[in-house]
Amino acid sequence: MAEHESLEFGKADFVLLDSVSLEEFMANLKLRFEKGRIYTYIGEVVVSVNPYRAMNIYGRDTIEQYKGRELYERPPHLFAIADAAYKAMKRRNKDTCIVISGESGAGKTEASKYIMQYIAAITNPGQRAEVERVKNMLLKSNCVLEAFGNAKTNRNDNSSRFGKYMDINFDFKGDPIGGHINNYLLEKSRVIFQQEGERSFHSFYQVCVCVSVSIDALIVLLIHSVPSFSPPQSSINDGADFKAVADAMKVIGFTPDEIQTVYKVLATILHLNSKVVAVIGVLLATKEENVGKALLYRTVATGRDVIDKQHTTQEASYGRDALAKAMYERMFCWIVGRINDVIEVKNYDAKVHGKNTVIGVLDIYGFEIFQNNSFEQFCINYCNEKLQQLFIQLVLRQEQEEYQREGIPWKHIDYFNNQIIVDLVELQHKGIFSVLDEACMTVGKVTDEVFLQGLNSKLAKHAHYTSRKLSPTDKSLEFDRDFRIRHYAGDVVYSVVGFIDKNKDTLFQDFKRLLYNRLESTHTCYPLSSRPPPSLSHGPTVAFYDALITNFSSPFFPPEPYYVRCIKPNDVKSPLLFEYERCRHQVEYLGLLENVRVRRAGFANRQEYPRFLQRYKMISEFTWPNHDLPSDKEAVKRLVQGCGFEHDVAYGKTKVFVRTPRTLFCLEEQRDEMV
Ligand code: ADP
Ligand code: MG
Repeated sequence: MAEHESLEFGKADFVLLDSVSLEEFMANLKLRFEKGRIYTYIGEVVVSVNPYRAMNIYGRDTIEQYKGRELYERPPHLFAIADAAYKAMKRRNKDTCIVISGESGAGKTEASKYIMQYIAAITNPGQRAEVERVKNMLLKSNCVLEAFGNAKTNRNDNSSRFGKYMDINFDFKGDPIGGHINNYLLEKSRVIFQQEGERSFHSFYQVCVCVSVSIDALIVLLIHSVPSFSPPQSSINDGADFKAVADAMKVIGFTPDEIQTVYKVLATILHLNSKVVAVIGVLLATKEENVGKALLYRTVATGRDVIDKQHTTQEASYGRDALAKAMYERMFCWIVGRINDVIEVKNYDAKVHGKNTVIGVLDIYGFEIFQNNSFEQFCINYCNEKLQQLFIQLVLRQEQEEYQREGIPWKHIDYFNNQIIVDLVELQHKGIFSVLDEACMTVGKVTDEVFLQGLNSKLAKHAHYTSRKLSPTDKSLEFDRDFRIRHYAGDVVYSVVGFIDKNKDTLFQDFKRLLYNRLESTHTCYPLSSRPPPSLSHGPTVAFYDALITNFSSPFFPPEPYYVRCIKPNDVKSPLLFEYERCRHQVEYLGLLENVRVRRAGFANRQEYPRFLQRYKMISEFTWPNHDLPSDKEAVKRLVQGCGFEHDVAYGKTKVFVRTPRTLFCLEEQRDEMV
């Protein structure tokens, strides 16, 4: 396979390794990386290693090479997987999705952008204006989302701080007619706190270096009056990005008023963080004393009286932070909503009549282990557990189960099933979410410590959970507040501090009133109060879980998944360095070796007998135009024998299994000659 690629570059598909061992796998991965071959297959899965340098492999000419080709006809590439997903969608009328996974900085977001670009490039040969409009919006929306949802972290200068599932809808011609973006788990705590060397969201720096042309002069003044907000040195060109984002917002259809409002919100948050009440009053178009009052007092009802109770310093700063985070999060959701307004499928006919299929691209932020891990890392890592479980179910388990069901001789292949960790987090009554929600719903003062005690009592015996209390001699658990989860990707120590607050996500009533009053006082569309705050029993994590699962359990469940598994070669963003241990660890926890084993032992393709016949019956005299054999299964056997492929095929109860893709190509070629 992939004969055109010389062995000098290693094996283009790990399935073709002489023997499947970790050493061989790693040697091939390393060789290919060093030869500038960043993509390698495992069957239909693309393994990608971040090159950390511009590659000349995404241009128009490359796109042309992949367009309409079969996977194995060209060297491994994202474009091939995008084309496969597109073909499956178009030919077989199936919803498909491309799931991109890997840790932070491994190249997921870049991959998702190349995939989108490829799909945009190969569609709409007829140059229909409406389709061009939709494509332009889909591509432009990335720029806006990244400005508000990405930030520089120590791992990645442009790290997505939210998860994204982008659907592209296609009409019967296979042209994009719309899309929808789901966003998950924006890391809003970044608004008020960043680890050493990291930045807040790009948008804040962009607005601070902004050139005044497109911003109201007063806002510019107010932004520049933010004390102590000087952007740290970085390679990021905030000024140029600011212009690009402003242009993209205009193209997408944000009104000048809306754009100004966004700048005001950014400025408000900056000032909130620097505690300047008067300026906030101006920005929010409300009276200065209202702002001060909302920040410093709480309105409480005592019997029939309503009194203003002064906050403690701690309460006040907590409230201020909560307000800043909530404002940013709501603005972000509002921006996504506005983008969805313009990209959603409009045409009634297309929705109701025409065949409307979907390709989804899932780019969720990767597994994270920091020096200090809190609730945010817990949520992110849980999501990655969930994705890994999906991969196991769809690729490893289903594959093996199908062979069993079909009665195909099969040697079971062991892999680590992370279901046990998913259960640890989400099991009813004794999972971590349950304990957390229970603690949050308890009336009266509940502390993080109480929550931790709950975990300790419910999970003391769990193999993947421990804490300082349960393992007092364990060196990695430094503080009383620490607990540790053994994730599929490695051990992570979490600090319990802040779990309760962050899960409750409370915004003081008085702030809601402040923002609401403001809403009435002006006419600009303001995103703040558009969404109710999450209820106590359903924290943000549960909401994420619901949304993700809804996507994967549509009436067409499951959308046919295509996988891109991203690997980060080193921690210093070097194009030359292949840190062996670092990569080996990722190969292991991504389950790539098991993937190769299952794939090697298995079959590249399977089809139900009637469907197989339907497609290939014209190439055999025994089956064309109809067969008189006792069953379709017998007819398929006859057909396969006639072609000389018996050695490469197995017959299941309802399906025929084809081991190598090459056989399939031959069948396709013969078919082409006949039709
Ligand atoms: P992730 O989304 O997995 O956190 P990104 O996709 O943002 O990671 O990639 C991090 C950085 O790595 C990018 O900003 C870019 O500099 C580099 N990078 C990733 N993929 C590629 C690629 N295919 N070609 C060149 N550089 C890349
Ligand atoms: Mg990303």
